[in-house]
Amino acid sequence: MNMNSGAQAGLRHYPHLYIGGDWVEPIDGGHLDSIDPATGKAWTRVAYGGRKDIDRAVAAAREALEGPWGRMAGHERAALLRKFAEIYQRKAPQLAELESRDSGRALRETRADVGAHANWYFWFASLCDKIWGHSIPMDNSVHVFTSRLPVGVVGAITPWNAPMLTTAWKLGPALAAGCTVVLKPAELTPVTALELARMFEEAGFPAGVVNVVPGYGKDGAGEYLVEHPAVDKISFTGEGATARTILKSGADTLKRFSFELGGKAPHIIFADADLENALNATTSSAWAVCGQSCALGSRVLVERPIYERVVEAFAERASKVRVGMPLDEATHMGPQASAEQLNKTLTYVALGQSEGAELVAGGQRLTLEALADGFFVQPTVFAGVRNEMRLAQEEIFGPVASIIPFEGEDEAVATANGTAYGLTAGLWTQDIGRGHRVAARIRAGIVWVNTYRYIRWTTPYGGFKASGWGRENGLEALDSYLETRTTVISTSGQFADAYAN
Ligand code: NAD
Repeated sequence: MNMNSGAQAGLRHYPHLYIGGDWVEPIDGGHLDSIDPATGKAWTRVAYGGRKDIDRAVAAAREALEGPWGRMAGHERAALLRKFAEIYQRKAPQLAELESRDSGRALRETRADVGAHANWYFWFASLCDKIWGHSIPMDNSVHVFTSRLPVGVVGAITPWNAPMLTTAWKLGPALAAGCTVVLKPAELTPVTALELARMFEEAGFPAGVVNVVPGYGKDGAGEYLVEHPAVDKISFTGEGATARTILKSGADTLKRFSFELGGKAPHIIFADADLENALNATTSSAWAVCGQSCALGSRVLVERPIYERVVEAFAERASKVRVGMPLDEATHMGPQASAEQLNKTLTYVALGQSEGAELVAGGQRLTLEALADGFFVQPTVFAGVRNEMRLAQEEIFGPVASIIPFEGEDEAVATANGTAYGLTAGLWTQDIGRGHRVAARIRAGIVWVNTYRYIRWTTPYGGFKASGWGRENGLEALDSYLETRTTVISTSGQFADAYAN
């Protein structure tokens, strides 16, 4: 069916939810405008779900789990997921463009990002028929073996900063494990999730395996999904504060949770680093995705002997970043994803100044004529930041680099570990021993040495401390969508007592 029918006032229209293999009107949801952050104006009108819509999506997911999907052999699931991956690969350019419109990310970024996601689906497809337990040798009175079973119905709740990436990271392993899914995309960026539903339909997935219900979080589809007794697991990416609320509202049903949360990554440059490479990585990682990624190195820790040079280079490079319309091929950095996000960044700029950090570049909203209605901000650099400042401790989620001087490895490690977060970290040194030594002392889920943001479908990703629970990507990702059952069969015909030896 054509989901763009019923266009109104020039808006692209997505009037339906995707539930149980059908495109349906919301029962107790409604329609929301999705705003183009480059213009500040609505560009699509999208259906969102309410409690009754979540009820029927969960019922459809459970029916599929107990029906055709649950009965399907692993290699058949693999074939379907591969077919979906092929469709995804073909449609990636259109998806990238939609993601740029909806989230404001520069097209050159979304092309590279969305263009890679098919790899996740292909790789997880290859695991569908390799999920097995093992036998546990005891004496010959019993045969003991384990089996690995899908955890059940998964509620996947995603953020607005990387909608298709965070979705691939959840749906790949969930479907490989044999789970069914209700996907609730962020209210700011619902469009690509609905396009994804069309691809599952085209690939021929049984009805109800993947359901897509856009909606609000608090007092909306997100919260209902978390509370729902027939949902077995919530896989969430978003803010720590939301995760805490989710844990409380999901507590009564004792469902499983995995959380991918925020970061305040240290990016350490030792004086012996290859400075050109280090600067390329640290500056681009400060401003990529307009600073709206949990993995970015927002704290740049610089060893004293090269500190002045690094500060100068940051200021100079900040002035060269081409900020502009996301779909413009020349644009390096688009707008912030929402007015709220822009205000948050500007609030932190003021806070940084009041805390005594030195603003050496940027810090202003961009109000040039073509950009005036969008949520554009300059790439921003603070020098002389101390790690205890709020500027260094709190996730800003804007293009703001905080440069912090240090002396020696011990101070670098103490500063790197000195926040509540522990998601990613980078370090630059030409001394391989130091690379190993320092990496081993950093409390973060992933540490990059002489590279940054190297993330693949095979590489586990997730947080220590307040940055999350569990891992996405790699074989570890499958674990959180599986339950282990141990079966003990008496082969002697005797009752094998628990305490007998
Ligand atoms: P958010 O927590 O505001 O929202 C995330 C999702 O949760 C949205 O779909 C929202 O509708 C939903 N939600 C909100 N309240 C809810 C509730 N009470 N119950 C159920 N669902 C609810 O986060 P955001 O602002 O969309 O995303 C930005 C955050 O995501 C940042 O903190 C960022 O670091 C984090 N992030 C982490 C990773 C990672 O892999 N660790 C990746 C991307 C983003």
